[in-house]
Amino acid sequence: MQNFATLGLSQPLLKAIQDMGFEHPTPIQEQAIPKLLGDPTDLVGLAQTGTGKTAAFGLPLIDLVETGEPTTQALIIAPTRELCLQISKELELFGKQHKQINILAVYGGTDISRHIRALRRPVHIIAATPGRLRDLIKRKAVDLSEVRYVVLDEADEMLNMGFKEEIDEILDYTPVDKNTWLFSATMPPEVRRIAQTYMSNPLEISIGSKNTANVDIDHQYVEVHPRQRYEALKRFLDFDPDIFGLVFTRTRRDAAEVAEQLSKDGYRADALHGDMNQQQRDRVMEAFRSKRLQMLVATDVAARGIDVNDITHVFHYNIPEDISFYTHRSGRTGRAGRKGISMILMHPKDKYLLNQVERRTKVKFSLSHIPTGREICEKRLLLHMSHIKNMPVLPDLEDFMPAITEQLEDISKEDLIKRVASLSFSRYFKAYRHAPDLNTGGRPKKDRSNRSQNFKRLFINVGGVDVDGKGGFLAYVCGNTNIPGSCIGRIELSAKYAFFDVESELADQVIDRLNGHTIEGRTVRVNEENTPLRKDKKKKKKHRKGNRSFDKRYR
Ligand code: AMP
Repeated sequence: MQNFATLGLSQPLLKAIQDMGFEHPTPIQEQAIPKLLGDPTDLVGLAQTGTGKTAAFGLPLIDLVETGEPTTQALIIAPTRELCLQISKELELFGKQHKQINILAVYGGTDISRHIRALRRPVHIIAATPGRLRDLIKRKAVDLSEVRYVVLDEADEMLNMGFKEEIDEILDYTPVDKNTWLFSATMPPEVRRIAQTYMSNPLEISIGSKNTANVDIDHQYVEVHPRQRYEALKRFLDFDPDIFGLVFTRTRRDAAEVAEQLSKDGYRADALHGDMNQQQRDRVMEAFRSKRLQMLVATDVAARGIDVNDITHVFHYNIPEDISFYTHRSGRTGRAGRKGISMILMHPKDKYLLNQVERRTKVKFSLSHIPTGREICEKRLLLHMSHIKNMPVLPDLEDFMPAITEQLEDISKEDLIKRVASLSFSRYFKAYRHAPDLNTGGRPKKDRSNRSQNFKRLFINVGGVDVDGKGGFLAYVCGNTNIPGSCIGRIELSAKYAFFDVESELADQVIDRLNGHTIEGRTVRVNEENTPLRKDKKKKKKHRKGNRSFDKRYR
């Protein structure tokens, strides 16, 4: 691994890098910095956000700009206000040890006269969104005649957002002999055209192969019916409380609705979409950045330029319409060498779209599964138990120990554990004990085989006429067998009988305890479902009217 000192950067810059805590250059920095500091050159960098590309062009710019000249020498054009602000902040940090370097971010959505005033003093580096920069050029508020370096950051995003004309116009205002450095996560034909039109013989640096997403991202998908998508999202959040993530939706309405529902359900979540004004967006971004929010639900456009480290998960509420969106969405995680998960909640019918994303991005997706109610209960319970185990004991508790011991005298250790567990368990138990499996047939194979080994299917001659729905059925079975509801799986309740799954090791206990029990004066019979019974079940379906043989056998 290389060291920053070998890249040719000045001493003050090395000191600034050290202060920022960067230890080693990232691959794109390693490749780009020596080239950009050397002979003048154009450059095309295929890299997405999170690879350290800002420093890859920003560090050379700080060293190359002549502060003695009161002119704008570098122009960075980026798609969003957020990205412009991030770039200017990062460059200011690089330059702080250095020299009196003036850096200004200009972007739409704010009073243009403020920017016009700020541009009256010499600004060495401008980071601008295309629309605002064009307006400033038209008002003759900015002089680009001395620009020596133009950086087009996230070029594909700018073109996706429809900034083609603005970019062409702006570039026409800059000197012919400038150096152009273009960065893009993907290389669609429009970006290629810009490179061909405005660059001569550019140096190409590619981090990963073309259109390839980051290797630190684990790309997964689950198959879920759209009606259950929200429920599936919640399950992931309940299963893993350490998730700090983004949810991408296609529409503003979806973003607002999902965020609102998550808040109602007790998660720290908010939305970021185009119907919000800049102040509202800033407030939400600040809350997310400082982790007061756990989940940010955003539309593709609103989320552009989001640069928050430590995002563990990116959820795609829908498979993205545009394939390049996938790379941008997923690139919000797996940043600066950390691992992340990008998870598509996919309608089973959208498999062909997934194949297209796979082909175009060269990313391999793996089928994951939506946690079941039982898995969530188990995980949360164990987490709680491990918290209890690691909990430091309050010294002041000693005084109360005699009273506590007296109070709990008659309870065995095992019972005590059960009660403590029940206390913490009740929320998840209530929410999930009847929860259906949301995976629409799509489950990793290994997992499915485990489940069938763990459960046995039982028949019982108790049905809807005896109990109040599936809840009543569960209460009847659990109440009479002393097993928790979480050990019961799928229930198929008919009027006079039921089939239900029970954890294999508890099946005998259920059979023993229920067999011979009476309900409304009738003897209850339970047995393991077996092949002959299944045949009978089918027969019954065929001759539903008049054929009582099935009922006779089992009642
Ligand atoms: P970027 O791809 O420019 O958006 O950078 C992603 C993040 O990585 C930013 O928060 C940077 O501050 C950080 N970063 C950039 N270069 C390095 C480095 N060499 N070592 C550690 N972190 C870095």
